[in-house]
Amino acid sequence: MMQQEKQRADRPRDPPLLKSKGRKKTNRMKGKKQFVLIEAGFATPFFLRLHLLLSLPLRTIRPCHTIGLRAPFLPTGAHAREWLSPAMATFLAQKLADAGKKFLQHVAVVLVPMANPDGYEFSHTDDRLWRKNRRNTSKSECKGVDLNRNWSKSWGTSGSSSNPCSEIYRGPQSFSEPESRALRDLARVWIKKFTLFLSLHSYGSYILYPWSHTQTASARNRPLKNIARKITKYLKTNGYKNFLYGQTSSTLYQASGTSEDYMLTAGIKYDYTVELPGFSFQFNVKKIKSVSRAFWEMLVCIFGDIGKQKKLKEYCSKRIVKIMLEDGSSYSDWVDKEIPLDEAKDIVREKYKEKHKNKVQTTTAVNTSLPAATKETMGGF
Ligand SMILES: [Zn+2]
Repeated sequence: MMQQEKQRADRPRDPPLLKSKGRKKTNRMKGKKQFVLIEAGFATPFFLRLHLLLSLPLRTIRPCHTIGLRAPFLPTGAHAREWLSPAMATFLAQKLADAGKKFLQHVAVVLVPMANPDGYEFSHTDDRLWRKNRRNTSKSECKGVDLNRNWSKSWGTSGSSSNPCSEIYRGPQSFSEPESRALRDLARVWIKKFTLFLSLHSYGSYILYPWSHTQTASARNRPLKNIARKITKYLKTNGYKNFLYGQTSSTLYQASGTSEDYMLTAGIKYDYTVELPGFSFQFNVKKIKSVSRAFWEMLVCIFGDIGKQKKLKEYCSKRIVKIMLEDGSSYSDWVDKEIPLDEAKDIVREKYKEKHKNKVQTTTAVNTSLPAATKETMGGF
């Protein structure tokens, strides 16, 4: 195969979301299944380009082609050993599923639950502290490219290495890796709607913003700093008070070819690398729910701040309360945070009963409006 053809074949196919771009809602689409969209499986062993779109049928979430005005982009798991990040993604996916149609009319969250599946698997089977992907390199004894040094913005400058044996090996060229290309392509599809980019890593409790490749401040330094301060404030309100924020290069260290620098250049207004809490990559599993919950509460509030929509902002003072039903299913709704949990559950239970009652009434109304002959036919059942 010609080199050029091979490169083209290596590229991930356009994400399915691309096909829905610009489609108008039609009567044909009414009543169709509704979906929450999660991009997963960007690379697989043997370099097959598997680009899956997991579509979970959920009654509460709008179809992708009608998705709303603001879209935060949350990739997780770029570094294999940082297990807290993809674990949190599953928690966030559940929260989005419980958040309901009204909430998702205002915001569409694009969540990538695993950006480095090969490396993640290797960190389970062979080396718990593996960081990179599993790419073969020019040195047969050293595998893997650091996926957060492979982006094109200032690729190959400070804070990365040309040595394949290094933990911060940047790859032979920018976007040499299918995983970083897949995220880039996904970002391109949504770029006009993305207003917030949060790349989840661990550990250290930092909210970091561009630039990472230079000590010079970006032109958007002030608004980036303002939102970083708010993110930190919301995390503190929810029990995580040790977060620090600042420009990546001066707060943590200099690094080039990073996703945060790329996304800022691509036009996403608010771009952050989040170093989740903890003092090692082996986060205490008992604390995963607590930190994930704090992160979710922070996200709801920050969506409102960035979206600047009154209705979205109102969710900041509420929380999702979920009740289990007798048949094993669940029902959730938003209730003011000030209301104690037991009382909030009673409110949700009442809402469910009210809704259920209405459904029964609607069904009865439909049946009685049917022609007599049809009613007789139905009686046969
Ligand atoms: Zn990381």
